[in-house]
Amino acid sequence: MTAPKDATPITRTLNQADLHALPFGDTQDFEDARRGFLGTLPEVEIKNDQGRIVWSLRDYAFLSAEEPPPTVNPSLWRQARLNMHNGLFQVTDRIYQIRGFDLSNMTLIEGDRGLIVIDPLISTEVARAGLDLYIAHRGHRPITTVIYTHSHTDHYGGVRGVVDEADVSAGRVDIIAPDRFMEEIVSEAVLAGTAMSRRAQFQFGPTLPKGPRGQVDAGLGKVGSRGTVTLIPPTRIVREALETHRVDGVEIVFQLTPETEAPAEMHMFYPELRALNLAENATHNLHNIYPIRGAQARDANAWAKYLNEAIDRFGRSADVVFAQHHWPVWGRARLLAYLGVQRDLYKYLHDQTVRLMNHGYKPAEIAERLALPKSLASAWHARGYYGTVSHNAKAIYQRYLGWYDGNPANLNPLPPIERGRKYVEYMGGAAAALARARADFARGEYRFVAEAMSHLVFADPANTEARRLRADALEQLGYSAESATWRNAYLLGAQELRHGQPGAGAGARAAVSPDIVRAMTLDLFFDYLGVRLNGERADGQRSVINWVLSDLETRYVSSLEHCALTCLAGRQSDHADATVTLDRAALNRLVLRELPFADAVQQGLIVIEGDAAKVAQLFGLLDDFALMFEVVEPKRGT
Ligand SMILES: [Zn+2]
Repeated sequence: MTAPKDATPITRTLNQADLHALPFGDTQDFEDARRGFLGTLPEVEIKNDQGRIVWSLRDYAFLSAEEPPPTVNPSLWRQARLNMHNGLFQVTDRIYQIRGFDLSNMTLIEGDRGLIVIDPLISTEVARAGLDLYIAHRGHRPITTVIYTHSHTDHYGGVRGVVDEADVSAGRVDIIAPDRFMEEIVSEAVLAGTAMSRRAQFQFGPTLPKGPRGQVDAGLGKVGSRGTVTLIPPTRIVREALETHRVDGVEIVFQLTPETEAPAEMHMFYPELRALNLAENATHNLHNIYPIRGAQARDANAWAKYLNEAIDRFGRSADVVFAQHHWPVWGRARLLAYLGVQRDLYKYLHDQTVRLMNHGYKPAEIAERLALPKSLASAWHARGYYGTVSHNAKAIYQRYLGWYDGNPANLNPLPPIERGRKYVEYMGGAAAALARARADFARGEYRFVAEAMSHLVFADPANTEARRLRADALEQLGYSAESATWRNAYLLGAQELRHGQPGAGAGARAAVSPDIVRAMTLDLFFDYLGVRLNGERADGQRSVINWVLSDLETRYVSSLEHCALTCLAGRQSDHADATVTLDRAALNRLVLRELPFADAVQQGLIVIEGDAAKVAQLFGLLDDFALMFEVVEPKRGT
């Protein structure tokens, strides 16, 4: 009853139709994904020091079958098979890539003195394994430079697996990153971290079983590695729109591309190697203007603009273009065609969404109506394996006009539980709604069945029949989805409706890595306290506290009033309730919850002058966030 089910005849027909509609005879991508292969591990299964598996391709062995099963969209099956290519690949003279050791690629450039490492994957264990594979084939070279292309974890987290911070401090290794790199990663990981981590489970599907009825891919790659995430701050920042530097003997033209796939990102052109690295702005799928894990909506117009500038400035001088995901495209004619499609993909989505918006269409209408022209839709690399036309159009709308569609009925609708109860009442009760939904399910109306049954579940989460029917509908939607992220979201929704949320670690907090906490600015630290302040419990509480960071000679004053915590840098109040003196290390341990506030005071790591009760009161008003909050059903305890 609760195991994943087979595809219905309707889902099979939908998937069959895709098999006939798309150009499966075009197998150039498979050739490109194999080209330059130098070798891989006998078995790609990487463990951490405790023996826990942090990366494995073993569970994906089912993808060796060429024929797609009826439970997977054939276009996604193709992408999932392409993303299985793994090992060390030569891109061109001096440029190598490790692929299939994580969601992202690690690029290695052989410099005059040593090695330039671009984007050391998500975790140290896989980055180290990738570097070892390179060494096994190409011999040992000292790492002279690390370059982070942008501010997402899959492009920096493994850095301590390839370099030692002592070498960075001593000036033996340079670390180069785009403008605003640190600010962007730290604020995203810290302030919205818990909500994003939980929602990311739905985007990538790490807690789903892998298989034809489970997770098959994430579009951009298989899934993220689950080892040790680290960060060493950059030593050099690229600040100008274009900067040219000779890095370990290799000339690199850096092109900043802010507000594209990441808020801080950059392209690189290597003129002597005739190679163009577009970071994550041109990959073999339609990317996300908005990832469904949640993020600020990206600027599709800027995305197209920077790709256009890259084509104009570098395209004709390049023999190969590659990115930090997927495989390269070789040959000038092919790469120009590829980049033209990528540019126009984002430009088309942007312009047509805004055009329809100005005609008065609402987000859901635009998402439903907008389709790629045939010239874009027939390119495999424009297909929505990661982003979709549908949710990207909504994101473009949101970037200009926000969440509200302008219909006053949607200005202040009832929240999910109350709305669910009224819908059930209007539908003539749960039994009548279920009967209708079963008939609709048989007709393949999965989208509406999932929505209607969601109302039943929010009205009564114990309604097992509604949960199961909703799970069945989500599952069929997942089976026919071309987008890996939609498939993962649908299938995890089905799993949690059938089995409930995973119990283990339910109270666990989203891990913020110690390196990220060390990199937090003090402004961000106070912002972080602010978002943890329980506004309801803070009612009527007031305090003014002076903060002295003893080892940094930095002072802050914080004020709690009207249930809001504010701070001013470089200021102290003459009327403070208390003055708190601590050093940065103690502050970091407080943030990491390694040290409860009271213990820190007791151990003398925090010294309080004045009214100590006011300081304790402030820390007592801070919430902790549990990672495993409810998504597909009402929050418990509400
Ligand atoms: Zn990435």
